[in-house]
Amino acid sequence: MKQSIKYLQYPPTRDVLFVFGAGTSHPDGLPLQRDVLPMILNDTEITSSEIGKIVIQFIKDNFVYDVESNEYPHLESLFLFLDYFIRQNESLSKAYSNATIHEIKEYLIKLIHYTVNKNTNKKSVVYHNFWDAVEKYNRNISVITLNYDTLLEQAFEHLYERIGYIDYSFHLMNYENSKELEFFNFWVNPQQPIVTSHNPVPFKIIKLHGSLNWKYCNCCNQTLLTPWDRAIDLNKGQLTWYSKKNDANFEYICPQDGTSFETLILTPSFTQNLNRQVFTQLMSEAGREIRAAKKIVFIGYSLSNADVHVRALLKKHLQTDTKVVVINPRITNSLKLKYQSIASHAEFINSTFEDFVTNDKLLKEIF
Ligand SMILES: [Zn+2]
Repeated sequence: MKQSIKYLQYPPTRDVLFVFGAGTSHPDGLPLQRDVLPMILNDTEITSSEIGKIVIQFIKDNFVYDVESNEYPHLESLFLFLDYFIRQNESLSKAYSNATIHEIKEYLIKLIHYTVNKNTNKKSVVYHNFWDAVEKYNRNISVITLNYDTLLEQAFEHLYERIGYIDYSFHLMNYENSKELEFFNFWVNPQQPIVTSHNPVPFKIIKLHGSLNWKYCNCCNQTLLTPWDRAIDLNKGQLTWYSKKNDANFEYICPQDGTSFETLILTPSFTQNLNRQVFTQLMSEAGREIRAAKKIVFIGYSLSNADVHVRALLKKHLQTDTKVVVINPRITNSLKLKYQSIASHAEFINSTFEDFVTNDKLLKEIF
């Protein structure tokens, strides 16, 4: 087939904007938020690791839980407690100085990262079916997701190049053409002309709570995408990559300034990090997509009270003539009221994500 240079463009309006919540990744192993802490406290790899021991000791010193009756503190209350000392710039005790509190918070985020990755480290059939539906019915769609696992992108593989490219909607270090970044230049920038023999389209995937495969450098404020590397060294608390040549793990450091990379995921008490450049950009991008959408379909998303930023986005940008559909296996009255407070005309469909992506009649209707 003949290759030519193509400029990928977005139509001015979006036929369907999907908003994914935990319910779309749960069938593939994403733990529910309330299960994450029990998993951390009972995972032998975590309990025997350096950063695991530090975090667990902190929890034991400050919270009481009961394994027998499966009663644990909420992850959110742990973060709120840590954030209190960080915000006030206070120490908790001699053992828990303000600096230590900062460190423990970062370690806890890393343990969550590790736990989510461990449970979603496989190919997703459900998301694969979703992308098949995109190919079959309509390519003018985009996705806002509150999940930081990478199941959605991993399932895109069979559409790559032939049908389109993923657009994370912010600048990645991978797009730069410097010598130090040569190794990472594999990721196609859909905002630039592309040489191809197909007719690909770009797909925006806006990950409002970050992603397990994004590495953030706190020095140059840039993000590196490492699609296949989501590992964490639990003893050193570092983001690592495996070298086949040396049969060893190495720490991920910024190729530009040598700084250690940090995780880029938003935890339950997220407001502290929401002002990071990346998230500000993603929020405005999400706002533009909401305005451009003819239809918004929420799937497996409970619009939790903690997600005030999502509520604010919708209140600001949702247009009165935009169709709103909520697909959820548990349509309760309180869920209905939550959505109706954003869109009074919202329609509700009782279905799981798994059932939706295999229901041709429903897919045709939604797409
Ligand atoms: Zn850097």
